[in-house]
Amino acid sequence: MGKFPLADEVLVQMAICRKCKARNKTGTVKCRKCGSPYMRQKRKDKRVKK
Ligand SMILES: [Zn+2]
Repeated sequence: MGKFPLADEVLVQMAICRKCKARNKTGTVKCRKCGSPYMRQKRKDKRVKK
């Protein structure tokens, strides 16, 4: 991940709206922007660049 472990931790604690990709607080049921209930957690696992 990035240079700052704390920043990574905060970023990981976000929920992303599948519809409009707005960042929401973890545990939010609906997107604050579009009201969509389809949320996903940001990935915690490191993604290997290909
Ligand atoms: Zn949304």
